[in-house]
Amino acid sequence: MSQKFTKIVATVGPASTSREVLEGMIKEGVNVIRLNFSHGEYETHATTVERVKAIDQDLGTHTALLADMQGPKLRVGMMEDGAELVVGAKIVIRVGEETGNAQTAWTRYEKFAEDVQAGEPVLLDDGKLRLRVEETNGKDAVTCVVEHGGILKSRKGLNLPSTKISLPSLTTKDCEDLEFALGLGVDWIGLSFVRSAADVVDLRERIQAAGSHARIVAKVEKPEAVDDLVGIVETTDAVMIARGDLGVEVPMEQVPMIQKRTIEMCQRQGKPVIVATQMMESMVDSIAPTRAEVTDVANAVLDGADAVMLSGETSVGDHPIEVIKAMKAIVTEIEKEPRIYHLHREPEDIRPERQVTDAICYNACELAQRVGAKVIVTMTFSGYTAYKVASQRPHAPIHVFTGNESILGQLALCWGVEAHLYNKMVSTDHTISDVKNILQKHGCVGEGDRVIHVASMPIAEAGMSNMLKVSEI
Ligand code: PEP
Repeated sequence: MSQKFTKIVATVGPASTSREVLEGMIKEGVNVIRLNFSHGEYETHATTVERVKAIDQDLGTHTALLADMQGPKLRVGMMEDGAELVVGAKIVIRVGEETGNAQTAWTRYEKFAEDVQAGEPVLLDDGKLRLRVEETNGKDAVTCVVEHGGILKSRKGLNLPSTKISLPSLTTKDCEDLEFALGLGVDWIGLSFVRSAADVVDLRERIQAAGSHARIVAKVEKPEAVDDLVGIVETTDAVMIARGDLGVEVPMEQVPMIQKRTIEMCQRQGKPVIVATQMMESMVDSIAPTRAEVTDVANAVLDGADAVMLSGETSVGDHPIEVIKAMKAIVTEIEKEPRIYHLHREPEDIRPERQVTDAICYNACELAQRVGAKVIVTMTFSGYTAYKVASQRPHAPIHVFTGNESILGQLALCWGVEAHLYNKMVSTDHTISDVKNILQKHGCVGEGDRVIHVASMPIAEAGMSNMLKVSEI
């Protein structure tokens, strides 16, 4: 384990798809590799996956693969160089694929003129430019007035925070990308621009129909998602607070509290949560982060995020390995703070069939603190106990032993967890002593250390967790 509880997600791109850089990043503390399907060719994604799997084999690591779907991301088309939108001037946005200028811009989004209404804002280039709809012909042309001007460059994002967009969360491109990503054996699928729990249910059905075990990261980046946060967190497997688009779609000053509320809600339900975007942005070209960025990463760790994410910093930045070192240094420093551990959150008994397991996981953490356990060991097939124990944020690292290969990568996203492939569920006594030997061999525990064990008895039946034990090395 890379001696930290909080996980690091790194987005790969031209700066980081070489074997050398990938290996460097994983050695320095990356736990999850994010393939951004908004960019990159299929061939490049496939090569990256092959390389990560080979590195894991060589290093004995379990790195998660997260395939992030583009979703209904709207953009303007090509623009003439230097097209400047002037405050008070009018610009017509048309549906089509021609090259735009200061008077006319184009978008491929066919229902644009149908969906928007007079008075709604249109934000361009991550909100740097702002227009207001004056009128729409309901077919293919929308006249806007420029409120915040500037140069509009080709292919910049177009956000409609007040418009009910009729595009589904999974576009035709996403469905093709999903099939390809599942074929690569990725662990997590990122669902962009989620608007409701129903979007998550739809993706889950598609994943199951494809016979995959991949799990879902719902990206919170739309006001509708903030409104249906409870339903989304309940339905999804993990959440990403995608602060880039979120900060355009809702007033930017609302992002910090949405971050804190989302993290708390995810922790309560044992769902991993990622804080994403602009965490170390200045390190795209600079060798050191700004003090504000250091503090942002620190605050995400203090808020209780499972993972912090890098985008451009590792995909196109000049220092993909240095940024991981810097991020890990911040994370490990903040993890010295006692206040991030031991949440003492009693189980809420939401699902009666999980009542016993939830109580065992909660008490495993209470017991670990009381007896000063060095590690907590859980035996699991589905991974459920790992997520539940982690959600209590124990100070003892969580070692998960499982015979289910498909969860090894998934658990790499979960706070404080290290997963081990283990198939010898013979008897409780044998397994407990075997697991202790393995941990001792790995240097995770030493003579006299106490270990907390969570398992099901009889162990060979791999049923629900119903056993809690303290042992000594
Ligand atoms: C974001 O908007 O913050 C984000 C992570 O999404 P993407 O990088 O896919 O635009």
